[in-house]
Order: sequence, then C-alpha cells, then structure tokens
Amino acid sequence: MSEQKTSQNYSFQAEVAQLLHLVTHSLYSNPEIFLRELISNASDACDKLRFEGINHPEYYENDPDLHVRVSLDKDNKTITISDNGIGLNQQEAIDNLGTIAKSGTKDFMTKLTGDQKSDAQLIGQFGVGFYSGFIVADKITVESRRAGLSSEDGVRWVSGGTGEFEVEQINKASRGTDIILHLRDDALEYLESYKVKQIINKYSDHISLPIQMQKEVWQEDQVADGDEEKAPNGKMVKTEEWETINSASALWTRNKSEISEEQYIEFYKNLSHDFDAPLAWAHNRVEGSTEYTQLLYIPAKAPHDLFTRESKAGIKLYVKRVFIMDDADNLIPNYLRFVQGVVDSADLPLNVSRELLQESRDVKTIREGNARRVLTLLDGLSKSEDEKDQEKFKTFYSEFGSVLKEGLGEDFGNRERILKLLRYATSNSDDVSTSLADYKSRMKDGQKAIYYVTADSLNAAKNSPQLELFKKKGIEVLLMSERVDEWAMNFVQEFDGTPLQNVSKGAVDLGDLQDAEEKKALEQAAEQFKPVIEKLGESLKDKTKEVRVTTRLVDSPACLVTSEGELSPQLIRMLKQAGQEVPEIKPILEINPEHPLVKKLEGSAQFDDLANVIFDQAVIAEGGLPEDPAAYVKRINNLLLK
Ligand code: ADP
Repeated sequence: MSEQKTSQNYSFQAEVAQLLHLVTHSLYSNPEIFLRELISNASDACDKLRFEGINHPEYYENDPDLHVRVSLDKDNKTITISDNGIGLNQQEAIDNLGTIAKSGTKDFMTKLTGDQKSDAQLIGQFGVGFYSGFIVADKITVESRRAGLSSEDGVRWVSGGTGEFEVEQINKASRGTDIILHLRDDALEYLESYKVKQIINKYSDHISLPIQMQKEVWQEDQVADGDEEKAPNGKMVKTEEWETINSASALWTRNKSEISEEQYIEFYKNLSHDFDAPLAWAHNRVEGSTEYTQLLYIPAKAPHDLFTRESKAGIKLYVKRVFIMDDADNLIPNYLRFVQGVVDSADLPLNVSRELLQESRDVKTIREGNARRVLTLLDGLSKSEDEKDQEKFKTFYSEFGSVLKEGLGEDFGNRERILKLLRYATSNSDDVSTSLADYKSRMKDGQKAIYYVTADSLNAAKNSPQLELFKKKGIEVLLMSERVDEWAMNFVQEFDGTPLQNVSKGAVDLGDLQDAEEKKALEQAAEQFKPVIEKLGESLKDKTKEVRVTTRLVDSPACLVTSEGELSPQLIRMLKQAGQEVPEIKPILEINPEHPLVKKLEGSAQFDDLANVIFDQAVIAEGGLPEDPAAYVKRINNLLLK
C-alpha cells in the first residue's frame, strides 16, 4: 500500500539551530564522541522499552532481545545506528528532535563565549546528544516506529542540520529507531569497521546491551584471468551474522577488580555527558536489610544550574538492572545534588513510582547510605597524604563547598562529618584552607570558643569592625563570606566539644582572654557615658533597640551587633533580596568610648546629625546601605561645612 501522505517541513527551535551551529563548529577536536552519544540514546530507548514493557508485554512484539546495531555502508557513505527500543511516534520525532526540552538551555547558551575550547567544554557538560551526529554528517535520516504502533505508523525525519527538518509517515516493520548518518567527505574514516569497533570499545564497552556489528570474514580475491603473477590479495567481506563487540554487562554489576580506571571514567562520561573525568568515585555492593549497588561519582566541575531550583540530582535508579528513572532525587540528599551515579536496588518493586520512592523505607536507607559514602569519600580525599588527592579536594571544595554547607541545616545526623570537611579563610590567612580542627589546634591558651564573623564578602569580613579587638589581641577569627554561611551556622552550636561564637552576636566575652583591668575600664566608661548613651538611644530610637559601650572596637567609632539567637543584618538583607517577609529586627549599636568622634558627641550642638551618621556608618561598614542615603549625605555635608 503506498502512502498518500507527503512530507512536511518544520523549523528547529531557535536554540537548537544555535546549538547545531556550535556542534558543527566547536566539536571538531573530538568528533568520534558522536558514536558514544548515539549509542547512549539507543541504549536509553531500550531501557525505556524494558520499563514500559513491564505493564505492556505486547510492546516486545516477537523481538524480545534488545540490542544496538551499527552498520557501515561504504557505497552510500552512511553509518547507521539501530536499536529495537521504544522508538518514536511522529509527534515525538517532531518534539524530541526539533526542540530542546531541558530547562536551563537558554541559560547555557548565554554562557558560551565563542571560544571553541571552552565552549566545547560547556557543551560537554550540557550534553549534545542526538545533535552530535552533525559533527560527522551533513544529513541525518531517522526512521522510527514506536513500540505498540502498527507498521504503517512509522516516521522518517530528515535534516541537513541547518534551519529545518522534514517529517513524513513511512512503513517500518521493525520496532525502534535507525539513525542514518550521511557522512561528510572528511569523516569517511568512520566507514572502517576496525575504527568503529575501536571507538565502541573505548566509549561504550560498559553499555549493558549488546552492541553488534556484522561479522566480517577474510575472503581471498578471485585472481583475474591473465593476472596470475600478482599475489592473491584478500579483503574483508560482511556476512549475515551479527557479532557483539562490547562486554555487554552493566558496569556496576561487575567486580571492582575487573573494572579499569579508564572504564570507570568512560562510564561516568556517558552517564553525565561531562567531558571531564570525575574527581573520585565510590563503587560498593551494600548488603544488609536493604541490598543495593551504588556507583557514585564526584564531578570536577559544578554544572551551570547547580543553584537553580530545577537543579536535579544525577542519580539513575535501576531495579535489578532494569532502568527505572533518571534524576532520582530521593536517593541523595539535596546538599549532595552534584553527585552523579547509579543505584541498583534488589528490593524495590519494578513498578516503583516517584511517589512511592518518597515513602519507601528502603529508599531512605539507600539515601542515607549514599550520603555517608560520599562524605567518607570526601573525608578520605581531605585527609590523604597524596598531593593529587589534596588537589582534588581543593577542586571539589571550590566547586561544591557552598552546596555542602547546606547540609548543616539539612542533615543533622551527618553534621559533624560535614563540619570536618569545611574550610575557611581566617583573619590570619585569605586562603580558604583552614578547617575547624586546624583552628582549634591554633587556639590561644584560655580561649574557650571558635570565633567567626559572617559578612557579604571576604573583604567586608576581613575589615569588619567587630574584629578589631580580636586582631589587637592576636586571636584568630574564621571569616565566613558565602551567602549560605549565615544561614548554615544557625544550625551549628559546637564542633568537637568547642562552642562556636559569632563575634557580631551578643556582647563580647573573651573570658580569660580579657583581663580584669579591661573589664573595669569598660564599666567606668559605661558609667561616664551614661548621659550620652541615653541621648543616643533617644535620637536613634527608630533604628536601634539598644545603645551600649563596648571594648570590642579599636579603630572604629561604632558597630552593629545582634542579640544571641536573632537574625543578623546580613541575613535580613539576604532574605529581603530573596523576596521574603522578614520581621523588623533592630540591631544593637555598640560604641567605642575611646574614639574621638564618640567623645565629640558630648555637648555637641549637632548631636542628632552626628548620632545618625555614626549609626549609618556602622551599617555601611557591614556592607549595607543607610536606609535613607540622601539624608545620610546631607548630614555628612552639614557636618563637613560646620
Ligand atoms: P537527551 O538524550 O539528552 O534527552 P538528545 O538530543 O540526545 O537528548 O535526544 C533528544 C530526545 O530524542 C531524547 O530524549 C529521546 O526522547 C529522543 N531520542 C533520541 N534518540 C532516540 C532513540 N534512539 N530512540 C528513541 N528516542 C530517541
């Protein structure tokens, strides 16, 4: 029966067209990855069939052995990657091969620099998938039929990889997808079977399905009549037999000792679409009440969407080697969402849904096991004597340290383990390399707490007025300048038995580090300044909750502090920026009785201007802005003119 329907033309979504341009112009340095990408898609399609086949056994038709086949056609200069997986219907072909459905694409596009090398890296992280075919082909034909549809409902999709593609209905007897690449003249090397086998072995060996090519046999050429003197030469000819060229067993099911470092790395690259090797991995078979295999990787680079809300965990869930779902975020806590890998459980039912996952006790056990394993892996790197490991830990920390800190508020059970991994700059060193244990080992005699300051930037932290007394006394203070710090430290009271103390919260109490004379001087100053303080409290009553003298300042006239247990000004600023409702909390103003400006207050004719300027400057010193900047400027000018 001939088809009456004619083909229809479609345009690629703008992002796809842009991506295609990049693919063909930036990925030349490593063209052979097209095969890995297409085989990986074919394998995913088979995984999907296996999954849907649980409820629809009829989808298997009479063809239950799933495989990927690669065929080479020298006459037509094509290489074809075929699978008998789930296939595509017409609409799916239009949607999936004409648009990029993934969120974050636009975001990704804006990050491209035009520099080939770094763009290629980014593309690698992002995963070009199907479109990588255009690195070696100037035309791609896709012929597909979805499992469950009849053979007339096949689809052909053709594109030259520029702006458009063409779709028509075809007859296709076999289920699944053929991707036919019409090779460019500069890519004809991919018609050589030895070359293709090599690439498959390099990149796709671990794919759990058989990847097959037509078996070739050595055949001697017929020696032409009258040409007897020439030695008979032979050539390889194809047979009808298919041979499997990969190991075809899921990598994670093999014994560690049988897997080479290179195989682990290639598996990771396939899994994550990352061009870079991972920093480290952990592969274990966990036995006990819940049995599962975990293969978890720590990438070397943070993905571009690590901090967007849609950012998903990169764990694939398998049940007894059947692929169940991508991005199973129940299998790893949110603060470890950068981890990529595979979990294969023997205990979950095959028809497990996302909802069921949330409630399952086995899943909870697996999640905890995964978190523990990743933290142990990181701990090992951080403690290793090996310089390479230390370098890896540094890389990890600069890429993912701030995500890890989220764990302080999220995973109480592992708080101490997480704390051990954290590194900070300190008032003695800008290097983000001091652990809490390092800090403790350098504490002064008589020092009872680990002191830290939080601010919006390293500079603001370093120059924070609250640090002045500590500097004078030579007491080291941890500098915390990441957005997450302030929030995360709310959950931390102590480390290894030593309390942690935010120096801008509450009154300074240096305990034994402060001598009796200083305490006495403070009491005297408080007495002497009583009238000024009362007057200040009156002038600033809308802005502060209390005014008091302090010994914590050396060079600055004043600073803001928060009561123990209250939100700090930085945190309030952050929450406001994030559009959250924040209760109005007034800070405490502490003044330095030794400062000339403060001394000037007494009997000043411009008391009110001076008081407000001192307050606003304390806000500025913290990295904030005066509530009414124009009024601040006016007051300063008034004072300057007098
Ligand atoms: P990704 O695989 O990362 O989603 P691709 O660009 O590689 O992105 O593929 C886009 C979509 O096209 C896939 O998500 C899948 O739905 C579909 N697809 C690609 N190759 C195949 C195939 N061999 N069989 C069935 N569907 C496929």
